[in-house]
Amino acid sequence: MTQVATREDWKRVQPGLSKRVGAEEFDLFFKNTVILQLDPELVDIGVGSAMMAEFLKDSYESAVAQCIEDALGYRPQKIKFSINGHLFRKMRQNQAGAGDTHDLAVDGDPASADAKTKARPGEATDRVQAPNRIFHLNEKFSLDNFIVGPNNKLAFNAAVDLADAKSPDRFPALFIYGTTGTGKTHLLQGIALQLEQKRPQMRTLYVTGEYFCNQYFAAAKSKSYDAFHQRFRNVDLLIIDDVQFIATKVKCQDQLLYTLKALESLGKRVVLAAPVHPKELDGISDVLVSRFVQGMIAELKIPGPGTRVAIIKNKLGIHRARFPEATIQLLAGRLDCSVRELEGHLTQLVHVASMNEIPRITVPLVEQVLRSLLDGKIRLVELGDIENVVIAHYCVTSDQIHGSSRQRTVAMARQVCMYLARRLTAHSLKEIGRYFGNKNHTTVVFAAQKVEKLIASKPEVKGTIERLERQLHDR
Ligand code: ADP
Ligand code: MG
Repeated sequence: MTQVATREDWKRVQPGLSKRVGAEEFDLFFKNTVILQLDPELVDIGVGSAMMAEFLKDSYESAVAQCIEDALGYRPQKIKFSINGHLFRKMRQNQAGAGDTHDLAVDGDPASADAKTKARPGEATDRVQAPNRIFHLNEKFSLDNFIVGPNNKLAFNAAVDLADAKSPDRFPALFIYGTTGTGKTHLLQGIALQLEQKRPQMRTLYVTGEYFCNQYFAAAKSKSYDAFHQRFRNVDLLIIDDVQFIATKVKCQDQLLYTLKALESLGKRVVLAAPVHPKELDGISDVLVSRFVQGMIAELKIPGPGTRVAIIKNKLGIHRARFPEATIQLLAGRLDCSVRELEGHLTQLVHVASMNEIPRITVPLVEQVLRSLLDGKIRLVELGDIENVVIAHYCVTSDQIHGSSRQRTVAMARQVCMYLARRLTAHSLKEIGRYFGNKNHTTVVFAAQKVEKLIASKPEVKGTIERLERQLHDR
């Protein structure tokens, strides 16, 4: 059959299809498709993305078959929805035309947050204003952006108290715990960000347990502890995220204990975070556990349905208008999970809608996307997350990663970041290069290849990369 005849036949099918599925849904889902083949053996409909193909097949296959039978007099043997190169490119161009690829992503989407961070002209200034910064602090992790519910109220209030630095005698130490994705890092970085901004004279230091240990190992290796002590004791507020990393590392635990004692004697404060209550932490000495429980302890729980509605509405940001209330309720009902997973699902939904130029999300689309997500097909890793696990491992700073130093460890750390970003994110070479020190895309290709070669030739590099990947996945 010629292309013209195919299109003519498809035109005869469309009115019936529109009537059957409803004009609105027809416009939403079939307007941006092309007919590639239409005969009794095969009907092939081109779409812009794999997700859309799956969705249309699941939701409309039988309707399409029936309408073809009604209009053309035969029921096709097979109906296929395949990705069409032209539509795919068109959709990519539209995204590019809208600015960054991630302008269409969810507010609070890893990608868009990273994109915003890297593009912010004020970034360099921020870095200068915060000489204590070692880690990348995500600007979206502000306390203002934290949605409060019964599941996290206590921890949030404690964080605000600390960040206001108003009642210094209240509690010298705060221990926040909760399973992965419940907002620990958000709160800890929120405290650091607020203090950096509102009390720049205060020395606030945010690090991870792994960074603390690696700094200690480096000090022990060179047998010079001054810089180590200086770094962790010469602060007004020490924040250690993922402190569970010190489990089974006896010497590091001793050092942490000394550090905590020193800070307390100086009247300084400490905030720690771990996935479980201090008493449940395996491999940590009793004396350290009893130290942890001396301060205030607050748990972050998975949000309940009411809080989830608030979080979803907030996270959708500018995309809110596209989500009818029924879809929000459906999402809030289904997504009984951590906020990180919840964000991932929303990002994906907005992404699918944007890729396919769907102006309004529908309940079936939500259901479809959730199905593929709950199958575990999609995993979201942020560039900032990659940066932070690499910083902790190589004991470098965020400034160094973003800068142009060619010092061996820094260069290696940057290359590992690029390699991981290639593997674990959907960012383009250009975006990765821009984020990690404004390098061009050939640098990213070179870096990824170099790391691949090292993985193949050096078992210790292979081990490191596998561990970093696991850390990013197990969060
Ligand atoms: P954790 O450190 O506990 O594993 P994170 O702090 O990294 O979790 O949070 C995971 C994601 O969920 C982040 O994007 C964070 O902004 C978001 N998030 C968690 N809790 C909230 C909340 N109450 N309000 C808004 N965003 C939240
Ligand atoms: Mg965390």
